[in-house]
Parts: sequence; C-alpha cells; structure tokens
Amino acid sequence: MSETRNVIIIGSGPAGYTAAVYAARASLNPLLLEGSVTAGGALMNTTEVENFPGFRDGIMGPALMDEMRAQAERFGAEMIPDDVVEVDLAGDVKVVKTAEDTYTARAVILATGSGYRKLDLPNEEKLSGRGVSYCATCDGFFFREQHIAVVGGGDSAVEEATFLTRFGSKVSLIVRRDELRASKIMQERAFADPKLDIVWNSVVESVNGADKLESVTLKDTVTGETRDLDSTGLFIAIGHDPRSELLQGQVDLDENGYVLVQQPSTVTNLPGVFAAGDLVDHHYRQAITAAGTGCAAALDAERYLGERD
Ligand code: FAD
Repeated sequence: MSETRNVIIIGSGPAGYTAAVYAARASLNPLLLEGSVTAGGALMNTTEVENFPGFRDGIMGPALMDEMRAQAERFGAEMIPDDVVEVDLAGDVKVVKTAEDTYTARAVILATGSGYRKLDLPNEEKLSGRGVSYCATCDGFFFREQHIAVVGGGDSAVEEATFLTRFGSKVSLIVRRDELRASKIMQERAFADPKLDIVWNSVVESVNGADKLESVTLKDTVTGETRDLDSTGLFIAIGHDPRSELLQGQVDLDENGYVLVQQPSTVTNLPGVFAAGDLVDHHYRQAITAAGTGCAAALDAERYLGERD
C-alpha cells in the first residue's frame, strides 16, 4: 500500500478531470483512477461537441477529453487507468481498491458518471454519434430539417421529442405500448404538436446505415409486422443509470442510485467524500455542468482538508 494521499478522484469524465485540474493546482497531488476501458468518459463515444464553451468551431469529444486530461497532468495530477473495485469511505482515511492495488486518501471525489440505457442493437454502437444519439440537448441541432425518431414513452422521451420538433421536419415518437407513461401535461403537449407523430405499439428492430443512420426498422408489437422509417436521426430516451454499484452501503443514494449531496455543494453524508457530475445530476447531464461540479468538488475537498491541517 502506498502513502496516504490528500485526494483520490474516481472517474475520468469532465467532472473527474476538472476536479483533477483544480486539486492539482491547489497542490493536493491528486491521484485519478480513470477506469480501464472508457477513460475519458461519455464524450469518448461521440463526434462533434458544439456546446462546450471555448471552442467556437466545436471540438471532437475525444479531443476535448484529451485536452482536459493533459491539462490536469500539466499541473501534476497522477493518472492510473484502472477500475476501482471496492471502496471503504467511512473512516478518516478512505480506502480505494483496484484489482491489483490499494490506495488511501484523506478525501475522495466520486465522479463515475452515468450510462445511457441502450437498445443493444447490432449497429447501435457503430452509428452512435452518426445519427444515433442519447441526448437531444447535445445533438438536436445536427438534425435540422430531417426526419427524427425518438424511442421511449416516459417523461424524458416526450420532452426530448417535443424539444426536437424545433429542429426536425418531422419527429416520430416510437412507443412500445398503446399509451404513454409520461405525465398528463407532457402528453397533452405532445398530442397538440403538429410536427410530432406518435407511432404506437412499436419497437426498433434495427438501425440501418453503413457510415451514418439511413433508416430505422420498426416492428409492430401487436401484429409482428416490420417496416422501415426513413429517419436519419434516432434519439434513444429510455433512461440512464448512475454508476454507483461500488457505493451501495457507503454513501447515501437516492431511490434511483444517484449520490445525494448537500446542494449546492458536493458534500455527501460522509465527511471527506464529495461527488460530482452525472453520478449526482440526473437533470442537466451536460459536460459543462459535470465540469462545473467537478470544480466545486475539488474546492470542497480543499476546504475540508484545510480545516483539518
Ligand atoms: P462521464 O463522462 O460518464 O465519466 C465517468 C468516468 O468514470 C468514465 O470514464 C468511467 O469509465 C469512469 N468510471 C466509472 N466507474 C469507474 C470505476 N469503478 N473506476 C474507475 N473509473 C470509473 N454533453 C455535452 O455537454 N455536449 C455534448 O455534445 C454531449 N454529447 C454527448 C454524446 C454522447 C454519445 C453521450 C453519451 C453523452 C453526451 N453528452 C454531451 C453528455 C456528457 O458526455 C456527460 O454529461 C458528461 O460526460 C458527464 O461527465 P461525468 O464526468 O459526470 O461522467
């Protein structure tokens, strides 16, 4: 076991890297455990990011994450591309384990993000960022005057579909059953929208296209018939799950598994444990908001450590 650190950051998305920049510049010598497969976080799976301030022409998701990582390294943050498999966060000295090593720190910042639920179709991964999207706020703008499809029947699917009518020539909301789960007010808004067409009793059977989405094959859940929709944008809005399995029984989580913090701070129920980004936030889920709370977590950790020195 190595010496006890000031801060360990778990997670390498915009929240984790921003926390690392701030903690490193505060001379806290942070260690960041990045994860073994998806270091860089959710934006590693996308193409153009047009809404992160500072890049007037936009920037590719992986390039943005490379910049954030390099910026944290420049100030001395140490990165290890390993998964954390176990934590013990209750004591004054926090214990963080990977498969091979055990690390300890006086403060821990949790920034493991959340994952969008996928349809798990064969082409889905390949066409992600190429017509298939999980975030209307992020990508709606790319589909101006196109036929957009949205999958899902809950509040967020209806909200995304209604929002996307600003851009698309037409929006088809694909709903598995013959009713929506969304709240009544959301439903009324959807029914009243002339650009929004609800395709009842349907599931997406395949997403088609070589380099970008060209069409979506739908299957009728009642008759079993299939048909193609000539949609060039598909937004999958069937929910998302925080990556908090590790934290069960450690920090307080809400009923959906998101870490609870004392808003507007990043303070959790455990002293010296802070949480940031999409692991906490199921409302905004943007790179800039994740980066913002990553910054706040580092400042909260710095203050916590300062009070104990
Ligand atoms: P994440 O980016 O999810 O990063 C969490 C990191 O923690 C991951 O690298 C993960 O591997 C790591 N991790 C998880 N568990 C462990 C563990 N046990 N040990 C070690 N590491 C672990 N937002 C925008 O603002 N603009 C956009 O254009 C945009 N486009 C998007 C496109 C796509 C396809 C997706 C999926 C999202 C997009 N978003 C966009 C949303 C944005 O990516 C997220 O809001 C943001 O990345 C959240 O940052 P985060 O740091 O909280 O978590």
